[in-house]
Amino acid sequence: MAQDSIMVEDHLRHPLFQNAMQSVEEAGKIINADPNIINRLKKPKRCIIVSVPVRMDDSTVKVFSGYRVQYNSTLGPYKGGIRYHQDVCLGEVVGLASLMMLKNSLMGLPYGGGKGGITVDPTKLSRTEKQNLTRRYTSEIGPFIGPQKDIPAPDVGTDSQTMAWMMDTYSQETGYAQPGVVTGKPIEIGGSLGRTGATGLGAVYVAEKAFEKKGMSLKGATIAVQGFGNVGSHAALYAFERGAKIVAISDVSGGLFNGDGLNIPDVIEHVRINKSIAGYSRGQKISNEDLLLLDVDALFPCALEGVITEKNAEKIKAKIIIEGANGPVTNDATKILHKKGVFIAPDVIANGGGVVVSYFEWVQDIMSFFWDESEINNRLKGIITKAFDRSYVMAQEKNVDMRQAAMAVSVERLQKAMLLRGLYPR
Ligand code: GLU
Repeated sequence: MAQDSIMVEDHLRHPLFQNAMQSVEEAGKIINADPNIINRLKKPKRCIIVSVPVRMDDSTVKVFSGYRVQYNSTLGPYKGGIRYHQDVCLGEVVGLASLMMLKNSLMGLPYGGGKGGITVDPTKLSRTEKQNLTRRYTSEIGPFIGPQKDIPAPDVGTDSQTMAWMMDTYSQETGYAQPGVVTGKPIEIGGSLGRTGATGLGAVYVAEKAFEKKGMSLKGATIAVQGFGNVGSHAALYAFERGAKIVAISDVSGGLFNGDGLNIPDVIEHVRINKSIAGYSRGQKISNEDLLLLDVDALFPCALEGVITEKNAEKIKAKIIIEGANGPVTNDATKILHKKGVFIAPDVIANGGGVVVSYFEWVQDIMSFFWDESEINNRLKGIITKAFDRSYVMAQEKNVDMRQAAMAVSVERLQKAMLLRGLYPR
């Protein structure tokens, strides 16, 4: 019966995707876009759902659900990370894939947008189980990925080791080493210098620009970082190295506050040994929710989506928000914060450093010629600063917030390319 059917539209009701599509619609209005283009951008091109059977250490077989969403390929091969998290679902992956399309377009990269994920809590898996899961997932999506087709990378819950297993599985199955099939690999097998810290470094480059626009300086500024994974820990480190005072951090175990500023290299060493900030003694405990409401110069939400909503936006005291995560501030919250005068550097700019250096890695793999780290960081700074500046100009010209402006710049490039390529067959 029709009313019992689960339609594609039901998955697309995921709030992350709804937020992204509201941004696309607003962007369309700002640039007076062709409505046919906006309609097309509001649907994914292809969603792949796979079952991933894994032999667990107790020799039982568990079957996990995996996804790869290929959202749009107008500008080039699909590109985007793979997430391992217990809350991964098709709707979330579609939302994240659409954000990759918008980010890649804004950054001026020759990529479409994609994203993948498996519904699994990776902290509950042994190394062998994680390897088996990754290899079988790679094999299942194998026909759809490749250096010229779709290039995965790390995201929440995955890392360079995950990418090494993906690269090896794909290479074994195709018969020769293909480092360009994934980015975010270890250096030894075709990874790029600077890739691990790239998202955090990009966020700090963006923060420097945001502080400048607010007439403030990152040096001496107080910062709270929510999420201390790859993005949050590197953002905290690079901001610390530039003289900012990181007064609070958090991870799944909770938060830490130290009004005099935390010694970030010391915390990172603690996390390396203990796998979490829990037990670090030089700070007071604070909840994740309270961290978001601290009276700081800048807040870096670097964990998951939907942490700042219309429920807590009014209570935010930070002057600047740098979105290290994808979708941490909802559109409703953005509007409230914008009215309060809070400067938000949106995800598509603020965390774009990861995919920019992924692009450098892919280019280096194709050329088999590798660059030094200063070249990588300088080029990253150039690209991310340009994306910021173009969005800032759009925001001033059209009197809109930075998220709307960034989306408008992004959709404008996509529209031009789509009109040039035309509709097939017609
Ligand atoms: N997962 C990262 C992101 O959300 C990186 C994607 C990539 O490097 O392809 O931007």
